[in-house]
Amino acid sequence: MSLALPETFAFTQSSLQTFVDCPRRFWLTYVARLPWPAEEAAPMDERERLLQWGARFHHLVERLERGLDPARVVQDLDYPLDEWVASYRRHRPRDLPTQYRHVEQVLSVPYRSTQARYRLAARYDLIAAERQGDAARAVIVDWKTSPRPGRRTQLQQRLQTLVYPYVLVEASSVFPWGPVDPERVSMVYWFTAAPDTPVVFPYSPDLHAAARTRLTQLLDDLLARETEADFPKVPDTPENRRRLCGYCVYRSRCNRGQAAASVDELEDVEDLAPVDLEASLEFTLEDVEEIAF
Ligand code: SF4
Repeated sequence: MSLALPETFAFTQSSLQTFVDCPRRFWLTYVARLPWPAEEAAPMDERERLLQWGARFHHLVERLERGLDPARVVQDLDYPLDEWVASYRRHRPRDLPTQYRHVEQVLSVPYRSTQARYRLAARYDLIAAERQGDAARAVIVDWKTSPRPGRRTQLQQRLQTLVYPYVLVEASSVFPWGPVDPERVSMVYWFTAAPDTPVVFPYSPDLHAAARTRLTQLLDDLLARETEADFPKVPDTPENRRRLCGYCVYRSRCNRGQAAASVDELEDVEDLAPVDLEASLEFTLEDVEEIAF
């Protein structure tokens, strides 16, 4: 017996973060694939608006980064998108490499367990890179549109901060500027709520080795489980109810309260985004050939 995931399932920072936050939520979402019975955050229309603004902002900045005429990109924008895009143009992270820009880039690397072959995938808002002589340099930029900027200590704990540079270094030989050494990679979180104070995480060979160990342990642990009972609920504490269950669609099923938590308390609006199971399964064997390194 082994965990019932399709062989083409791609683990992402989001599904791994779900497993770390609450194993039961991983089970319900990715293995049982239960429909989502409750709203994640209140009020519902505010949640929808935040998600739509976030998606729209990503689309607009993507067009700017692809070199479209800014005057056309910002045409007829309403608040807050007009202000967010103007802020981005004023406070785009400094000193980004200029030779190569990859927007909405998906990369994946293989992960082999004793029983199956899976992939670890990441979708990047922006990778800016260059090669000077023998050395490449790459900066990963992630745009965040939450009502509050993320705190450094919290971002440091998030698996995104570990998975993104790890996958980039491992897969970087597919690029004309690659491969890149870990010490020449950094990750920048840029916030609409604090456009002039991005949070930067340098990467290093030690962090890369630690990331490999952590990810291997995490995936080994996850894939060694089989049944719902192997995926327990997060402990029922006031802190976990506030931080996790309050935003979780399964809270009535788990008896963790009825009312959704307020979006005002949320630090990463992407946590509200519906889980896209199709995206987790989108790496067909054909895709794997295309994006494999
Ligand atoms: S409601 Fe809480 S315990 Fe239940 S799946 Fe969600 S986060 Fe886990």
